[in-house]
Parts: sequence; structure tokens; C-alpha cells
Amino acid sequence: MTTHLVWFRNDLRVCDNLALAAACRDPRAKVTGIFIATPEQWRQHNMAPRQAEFLWQHLRLLQTSLAERGIELCIKQAKDFAASIECLKAFCASRNVDALFYNYQYELNERERDAAVEKNLGRDVICQGFDDSVLLPPGSVTTGNHEMYKVFTPFSKAFIKRLQEGLPECVSAPGARGEPLVMTQAAPFDYPRDEVDTALFPFGERAAIAKLREFCLTPAADYPERRDFPAVDGTSRLSPYLALGVISPRQCLHRLLKEHPRALEGGAGSTWLNELVWREFYRHLLVAYPKLCRYQPFIPWTDSVRWQQDEKLLTAWQQGQTGYPIVDAAMRQLNATGWMHNRLRMVVASFLVKDLLIDWRAGERYFMTRLIDGDLAANNGGWQWAASTGTDAAPYFRIFNPATQGERFDAAGEFIRRWVPELQAVPGKHIHAPWVWADKQPQTLDYPRPIVDHKQARIATLAAYEAARKPEDKQDEK
Ligand code: FAD
Repeated sequence: MTTHLVWFRNDLRVCDNLALAAACRDPRAKVTGIFIATPEQWRQHNMAPRQAEFLWQHLRLLQTSLAERGIELCIKQAKDFAASIECLKAFCASRNVDALFYNYQYELNERERDAAVEKNLGRDVICQGFDDSVLLPPGSVTTGNHEMYKVFTPFSKAFIKRLQEGLPECVSAPGARGEPLVMTQAAPFDYPRDEVDTALFPFGERAAIAKLREFCLTPAADYPERRDFPAVDGTSRLSPYLALGVISPRQCLHRLLKEHPRALEGGAGSTWLNELVWREFYRHLLVAYPKLCRYQPFIPWTDSVRWQQDEKLLTAWQQGQTGYPIVDAAMRQLNATGWMHNRLRMVVASFLVKDLLIDWRAGERYFMTRLIDGDLAANNGGWQWAASTGTDAAPYFRIFNPATQGERFDAAGEFIRRWVPELQAVPGKHIHAPWVWADKQPQTLDYPRPIVDHKQARIATLAAYEAARKPEDKQDEK
């Protein structure tokens, strides 16, 4: 009997899992699964304890779901990626594995690991990878010169055209391959885990699919009007599930088109579809420009910006103690739940880089240590966009005013009051600049004054970026 091994990584689901479906295609093959935790590697990649908990819970649910189908999922632990290759090799030898199936990961370390696996195992075991975590494979949507797009809008147009020509199909969950198995409890991996708010992010593939269905019913159509307001539940909150592959982008696309068949033609649902395309854009970029995985900016001259080294300012930002209510509310939301609204991710990233003049990489790293949806491609893309160091980034002279952003997107201060209780008593019209009101009160407000003056910070930042730009860079921008 042939033995097929599915190596699960960021694809913790049974429905529409390309590697799992391919491994199960031959009804006579014995199919086994393996997941190898790599705590030391996760530490190096700054994985958030909340994301580790989300992963752990989904791993156990996946194990149960596979066991019901008669498929064993072995959960192993190795120190890092190098050790995981040895672990995999030993497992393949002990189980006489004929073929290995896995879904690609596009980050550099992960790709190097997979190349090493193929080299190490390739002689004895057939290795097959699948482009499962994307709608279209990286490298398949390119300019007329066969290069990766550097600007989102043309990429998006070409991408949508490709989808109009033919949609990537979803594959079914495998059927039962034998009697259900009784699994023994796996020992948890050696990595800190933090509690997840299951009211916000219920565990399980079924819960993720239910969330997707509910969102696609109406909120997806109202998304353009509601998505920018953090006090409103106007986005899908599917990012933690997409990041770990509890749900696939194909499932998202097909469900969206079922409810909103004109989404690909710019009809209802198209704005949400556009967000899924942003996700693809950043993944395709990682493959085209591996330097993005090495903490390097896309625009080289931006590496010469002289950032401030100020631990006190960085800590104030991390803890939501900057004196700018919208920034602080957002950072406290992140620290308490592991998630932050997209509009606020842009606001706090802009504040760290352009008001505090702190290196965007410190923010990128901090986000990863806290986010339940931490994803290198999206996080790096978002940070480089905000810092004006990336492809299709905001121009460096575009600097958000944190008070004005608060006024526009949380006008009544509803979101701010939810996360910054110290401001409960501040009247609505002063909620975005409470220091003005506080100065006229007899009692002091238990809330910090702004740690920087926005106007002065703006001038200093423009000067720092301008100083980093060489004459030839200015020429290139024309
Ligand atoms: P929805 O608005 O419902 O969008 C649906 C899905 O599309 C999301 O779940 C996500 O997978 C994808 N998506 C939406 N917006 C973007 C975007 N701008 N870039 C890439 N994909 C997008 N997203 C992550 O998944 N992980 C991260 O680590 C991450 N870090 C970010 C850091 C910064 C500085 C910024 C500005 C954005 C970051 N994003 C990240 C993108 C975005 O903020 C989140 O995907 C979004 O807020 C998740 O909420 P949602 O699921 O309700 O999104």
C-alpha cells in the first residue's frame, strides 16, 4: 500500500485544502498528517502568544476532524526549521512514506526550508507543493515585461481580469478513509500562549465558515460605507483565520460571489474583494522581492533616514500612553485582543514613524508580537506603506494628523471611550484633543499630555526624509 503524508503548516483546515485533497485522491493510499511545531523559529519570527493559542486550538480541532475521517494527525515538536527537516525525514522513514504533500508558504525562511526538504527527501519520497493560500500563484500576474507589478491598481486590474477568465475552484473535504480513530491528547508545544476572546474569534473551521457566510450576506455590500469606522463592526474579522489557513481565500471568493454575483464587475461586494486582492498583492511581492523578508525597505534610499532611538517614546506608543486618544485606544485594543481595525493600523503606524520618527521595523516587530492575525506579507506591506518605504506606498510627505483622523473616523469618540476610560468625562467636542479641555478644569485629568507636538514632529520628519534622499533619488521620482 502506498503511504501519503500531508505536512500541515498554515493550512489548518479540511475543506478546500489542496494538499490534503491531492493526498486523498488515490482511494487505496494510506493518508497520514503531520504538524511540526518550531518554537525557536516562532520566537525568531516574533509570533504572538495569542496567535500561538489560536494555532494550538485549531490544531487540536483539525486533529479531531481528521480522526473522524480515519486520518491520523501526528503533532511533533522540533526546535527550528533545520530541526523540523530532520524530524520530517525520520518520520517519513519510520512510516515508509512514498509521497509528501504540502501547501506552499511564501516567506523566505519557509521557502528555503521547503527547498532543503525536497533536496533531502526528494530521492526517496515524491514531494508535491500547492499554491493553496492564494487565489492565483505568485508570479502568475505580471506586467507585459513579465515583471511583478510595483503598484497595486494595475496589479488589481490584471488580477481581476484573470479571475474573470476563470475562477480557482474549491476542493471538497476528504471523505472517511476508515474507521474513526481515537486520538490521545497531544502535549502542547513549548511556546507561550495567551487567552483568545472567543466571542470575537470563535475557534473552529465551522465557526470561520459561519462568520464568512454571515459577513457575505449583507455586511459585504455595506462594507464601503462602514469599513473605516472602528466603533462599527463593519469588517469581516476573518484575518486570524486567513493567516493560519483555517479558511481559504477561494472559500471567501466563492461565498462572496454566491451572495454578490457582480462583485468581479465592480458591483456590490467588489470593495471587499479588493481587500482580498491586497492580500494577494503583498504575497506575490514577497516572492518577487525576497529582501522584504529580510527587514529591508523596498525603496533603498529610505534606509538612510536617521531614525530616533527613544525607548521611552516607543514604550509610550506600545502601551497606548501617547496622549493622542485615537492612537492610544487603538494600541490598547491591540494589546487586549490581538486585533486592530485596519484604519487604526494605518493611523498608529503613521504616528510611530512620522510623529515619533521611530524606525518602522520596531513597529512591524511589535505588531507581530501582539497580533492574532500576524502575517509577514500583510504586516510588512502595511508598515512599508505607512512608512513610505514600500511599493505603492503613501508619499513620504503624506503625514496623518492623529487628532484629525480621530475626528473623521471616530467623530463622537465612541471607540476612544471604549478603550480609554480615563477620557469618559471629556465632552465630545474635546475628545480628540483632551489637553485643551483639561487645561481649563480645576482637577487634573489622569491621562498623559501629547508626547510630541504634531506640527513640530511633522517638520522634523519631512526634514529627516528629505536629508536621506540623494539627488538621483529625486530624479527617479520624477
Ligand atoms: P476585512 O476588511 O474584512 O478584509 C478581508 C481580508 O482581506 C482580511 O481578513 C485580510 O486577510 C485581507 N486584507 C484586508 N486589508 C488588507 C491589507 N491592507 N493588506 C493585506 N490584506 C488585507 N493583515 C493581516 O492579516 N495580518 C497582519 O499582520 C497585518 N498587519 C498590518 C499592519 C499594518 C501597519 C497595516 C496598515 C495593515 C495590516 N494588515 C494586516 C491589513 C489589515 O489591517 C487587516 O488584514 C484587516 O484589518 C483585518 O481585518 P478584517 O479581517 O476584518 O479585514
